[in-house]
Amino acid sequence: MRADTLSLDERVHVLDSQTNVWTVIDQIANTGMQEEAFYVCDIGNIVHKHKIWTSAMPRVKPFYAVKCNDSLTVLEVLAALGTGFDCASKAEINKVLSLGVQSNRIIFANPAKPNSHIKHAVATGVDLMTFDNETELYKVKDLYPDARMVIRIRQDATVSQCPLGMKFGCNAITEAPQLLKLARELGINVVGVSFHVGSGCKDPPVFRKAIAAARSVFDYAKTLDFNFNLLDIGGGFPGDFGTSIDRIAEIVNAALDDYFPDPSVDVIAEPGRYYVSSAYTLACNIHSIRTVNNKNGDKHYMYYINDGVYGSFNCILYDHQKVVAQPLKEYPDSDLKSSSVWGPTCDALDEVLPNVLLPELHLGDWLIFENMGAYTLPVASPFNGFPIPKVHIVANENVWLLLKDLLPLTEGHFIIGSRSPERLAMEITDGEPWSLPTMPITIPVRGKDGKIEEHVLEFVEMCQ
Ligand SMILES: *Cc1c(COP(=O)(O)O)cnc(C)c1O
Repeated sequence: MRADTLSLDERVHVLDSQTNVWTVIDQIANTGMQEEAFYVCDIGNIVHKHKIWTSAMPRVKPFYAVKCNDSLTVLEVLAALGTGFDCASKAEINKVLSLGVQSNRIIFANPAKPNSHIKHAVATGVDLMTFDNETELYKVKDLYPDARMVIRIRQDATVSQCPLGMKFGCNAITEAPQLLKLARELGINVVGVSFHVGSGCKDPPVFRKAIAAARSVFDYAKTLDFNFNLLDIGGGFPGDFGTSIDRIAEIVNAALDDYFPDPSVDVIAEPGRYYVSSAYTLACNIHSIRTVNNKNGDKHYMYYINDGVYGSFNCILYDHQKVVAQPLKEYPDSDLKSSSVWGPTCDALDEVLPNVLLPELHLGDWLIFENMGAYTLPVASPFNGFPIPKVHIVANENVWLLLKDLLPLTEGHFIIGSRSPERLAMEITDGEPWSLPTMPITIPVRGKDGKIEEHVLEFVEMCQ
C-alpha cells in the first residue's frame, strides 16, 4: 500500500467545518515560518467536478488526461472515483498502473508513439491506442498487431487557449479513408474515432461538427467491414472557477442523440484541465518591491514574488493562461495602484502580470492565485535555484468519508484532527523530514482575566 510510505506532506489533511482553502492558506502564511510559495489542493473540488460531469454527460466516460497534472493524489482520487486515464507515454502508463488501475482503463492517446513505448504498451496490456498517420500503422502492425486502434481526426475550435490541430488529427474526408484502407490491408483492428478540438475550447458548437465528422468516418469504416464501437470526444473542457461545461454538455448530448443513437457505441472523453484547474490555489510571497515612475510621472509598484514563469507560471507562456492575483490580506481603505508582478529569477522574461491594479502591498505580504491546477506543476523547473512550490492537500469531512475506503485510497492517506499552523508550515517549507523544533514556539494568548500570556505550542501529534 502506498499509504505506508506516504510522507506527511503527501497525505490529505481533513478539514473541520470551520476551515476552507483560504483559511488554511491564511494559517500557513501567517505562521511567520513559511517563506516559500506553496499550493493548497482541495481534492473535494475534483470530486465535485466529477459529480457535475457524470450528471451533465452521463453517456460520456471521462479518461483523465494525465499530462495536465500527474500528481499521485490527483490520480488516486480519480482512480477511486472510477475514471479512466489518457496516457501519452510509457512513464504515464506506469504511473497509472502503479495505482492498481487495470490496463483496460487506459487509452494510449498519443498518435505519434516511440517504438519502445508501443512495446511497453504490449508488455502492460494497454491495447487501446490512437493514430493519425500511415507510419504509425506500419509500426503497430510490427509491434502490436492485436492493438485496438482509434483514428484521430482534426476538427479545430475557432477559438481555444491551446490549439492542437496543427500537430495531430487527420482530415476526416480527405485522409481518413486512405488510412482506414491501409489499416484494412495490414489487418489492423480499428475500433473507433477520436478528436481533440483544442485545449481551453471557447467554441462549444465545434463539438457538434466534430461528432458529425466522426459519424462520417464510422460510416465509411462500415463499408470496409470495420465494426466501430468507440467514440472519443477528447478534451477542451474549461475548469476554472466560474466556468461551466453546461453549454458543451448540451451540444454533445444532442449531437450524440442525433449521430450516435446506438447505445452500443461507447463514448469516452479525455478531460484534463476540467478536473484539476480550480482544485489548486497558489500562495506566493512578496520578497522585494521597487517603485518606479511610469511615463506620465505616476508611481508604479513592482512586486517580486517567489514563483514565476519558470515555475508554476509557465502556464502563462505555454498554456496562455490568464492569471489573477488576489492579496491574501484585505486593504479596505487603500486605493488601487498601477502595479506589476514579477517572478524571482534574474530573467526579465520572468514577468507574471505586466500591468495590474493592486492596493499598496508590503514586504512579506502574500498574493493568492486560484485556478492553478492545470498545466502548471508538471512543467515547472527550479531554474535559477528557486524551488517548485510544495502542495498541501486538503479535503472536508464529507469528502474524506466518501473517499477513505475507495481504493487506491485508504484511511492511511488521510490525517484527521486539528493541527497547529506551525506544524503545517514546517511540512511544506523544506525537503527534510519533519522534526521537532529545538526551541519551544510561543504565541501570545489573552487569558481569562484579560492578561496576555505566552502560550507554548505543543507538537504532540506523531503521524508515523
Ligand atoms: C492534452 C490532451 C488532453 C487534455 O486536454 P484538456 O484540454 O486539458 O482537457 C486530452 N487528450 C489529448 C490527446 C491531449 O493531448
